[in-house]
Parts: sequence; C-alpha cells; structure tokens
Amino acid sequence: MQRSAGVYVHFPYCLAKCPYCDFASYVPPGPPGTGAKGIDHAGYADAVLRELAARAPSFEGRRIESVFFGGGTPSLWEPRELGRVLAGICASLDVSPDVEVTVECNPTSLDEERARALLAAGVGRLSIGVQSLDDARLRTLGRLHDASGARRALEDARRAGVPRVSGDLIFGLPEQSPEQARDEALALVDLGLSHVSAYQLTIEPGTRFGELARRGRLPLADEGAVAESFLAIDEALGARGLAHYEISNYARPGEQARHNLGYWRGDEYLGLGTAAYGFVLEGEDDGVRYRNDPLPDRYLAGAPDTREPIDGAARARERIMLGLRMAEGVDLGRALTPERERALGWLEGRGRVVREGMRLRIPPSAWLWTDDTAARLF
Ligand code: SF4
Repeated sequence: MQRSAGVYVHFPYCLAKCPYCDFASYVPPGPPGTGAKGIDHAGYADAVLRELAARAPSFEGRRIESVFFGGGTPSLWEPRELGRVLAGICASLDVSPDVEVTVECNPTSLDEERARALLAAGVGRLSIGVQSLDDARLRTLGRLHDASGARRALEDARRAGVPRVSGDLIFGLPEQSPEQARDEALALVDLGLSHVSAYQLTIEPGTRFGELARRGRLPLADEGAVAESFLAIDEALGARGLAHYEISNYARPGEQARHNLGYWRGDEYLGLGTAAYGFVLEGEDDGVRYRNDPLPDRYLAGAPDTREPIDGAARARERIMLGLRMAEGVDLGRALTPERERALGWLEGRGRVVREGMRLRIPPSAWLWTDDTAARLF
C-alpha cells in the first residue's frame, strides 16, 4: 500500500518576536519598521525549491496528503512566491487530488485580498493566530494585533471564501479565570470557525518570558486555574459540536487538521526551509530525522542539515508519546514490551488509560495527566 506523507514548509520571519515564542522566527533584515519589505521573498522561494529538488527522490512512492506552510508568519510571504513553492511541490511529488494545504497567518498580515490570493494559489485552509479576543491579554502576550484586528482577519478570510479556517487560542495567562478562558473559546468558535487550537501558555527557556521568570519577575498562572481552564474549554467547545480530537485541538466533524494527524500518527514528512524538521523511513521501522540550519542566512547559503537515526525502539517511543495525545489513541503493535505491560497494569488500575485490543488511549477524564502517563510508557 502507498504510504501517506506530508510536506512542511517553514517561513522564518515575523514582524516582531513574541515574548513567549521559542520557534525559529526572526524579524526581517533591514532598519526598524521595514517589515516584510526586508525579506527576499523570491530568494527564499528559490532556496526552498532547490531543497525540494534535492529531497524529492527520497519521497518517491509516497502519496502527499497535506502541505503545511508554518513559521514564523508565512502570511507575510508574497502569495505569488508561496504559490510558486506550492506549484513546485505539486509538480515534483505524488500529491493527492484533495490535498489539504494550510497556511499559518497572523491578523496583521491577512486581509481579504491576501486571502483571495492564497486561495488562487491553491491554499484551502488558513490557521489564524488569534491567541485571544481580549485586548489586555493580547498586550500581555506581546501581540501586534488587538481583538478587533483578529475579528477583522477572520471576517476577511470568510468573505474571501476560504473553505476551512482554524483559530489559535492561548489560555493559562495569569489572572485569567477559567470562565474567561471558556468565554474566549466560545467567542472564537461563534465567529464561524470549524477548528480551534487551544494551547496552554508555556514559559520556555531562551524566550523573553523565560528570562523574566528566571529572575522571578513574571507573574505566573495558578496551576489549578489552568487545569480548570482546560476543562472549561473542553466542555464549552464540546457543547458547540466540536470534538476534542487531540489535547490542544478541537474540530467540527471532518475538519480535523490532516497534516497534524499525520505527525501524531507517525507518518513521514518532508520538511523544507529554515529550521524545518523532516522524517523519512529507510526500512520497515527505521528512519532518519533531519533538521535544516535554524538561521535564515545560513540556510539561504546552503548550510547542511543535521541528521539523527531513528531506530524501531525510538520510533515506538515517539508513536506512543504522540499517539496518546489523540482521542483515537495509538496502536501498540510491536511496542508492547514486558516493561510497558507492567506500567500499563498500573495505569489501567488508576483509570489513566483504556486498552481495546492493541489500541491504547487516554480517556478525556485523564488528559490532564497525559505527559506523566506517556513518560511511564517511555
Ligand atoms: S507570531 Fe508566532 S512564530 Fe512569530 S514570534 Fe509570535 S509566536 Fe513566534
């Protein structure tokens, strides 16, 4: 049977660096205020297309089911250049006729005209970084848009006729009550979205928030309130008809993000662009994960990637860790070792996992302990 795979294209530029962000994202070169004009839009597309030509042979025989432009802020990329890359992908790989093509957008770089241009280039799904519909919380997060800007971007996407629109939300901010988190999630879905990604704010080392936290100068949210917010969002979006299909993701029927499902199910993916990861199997179970150089200048100059062999045991660990994030769970298959069998006995006794044949899943009531559950099965 032909294997399914995805393509990820990383666009590494953002108009400003958010204080919580640890992604490979950089303010474009040029004097302050230059914005997207400082980006070599065509040069970056050329570099990605060169990489595609070099990597395409290793994806021969795979059926591409999804293409995801992430970042960074790929909605800053001139749609003509993004479209050129998408056309290159379609010309050099076996791309499914109903491929899911997603572009991550920020409200500050999405309007109706750009949404139409992306549609014309072959994009069918936009994932918009709303993050909050409250001006004060958006300021706390260091975002460049306000709540009305977020609403306008969603409305522009709708008016342009984009068939699938997802919105990102961040919860777990200090002084945000579970009721406020719930109301924001409801307000977002009531704007007509078919998919919501709700992420807990995490403080990562190496970010501005990480540095403030290290010096004890960042107010932190109460852990109990964060857990209650998670449950309040789950309940509210469930009542609106969105299935909680992955710890951080909710969708109306048929609207799940196919690209991300591929990651969580352990499918191969071709990564292109600065800092992009890729994974390709080189046998039944063994494969290689590569990562491109994380600095745009070095990537553009053709710096080599770094590679890590992934053997069957490492792949099994990853499949369990990622698969348990999904409501559908994971097929244990050959990953069921005697050590895991013992750990499963303990977890089942506490209602932390449910086993149906070889399929293992975490019931929604135990999702709050997912990280610990996965670690016990590592
Ligand atoms: S817009 Fe997204 S990728 Fe860019 S800095 Fe902010 S969080 Fe990071």
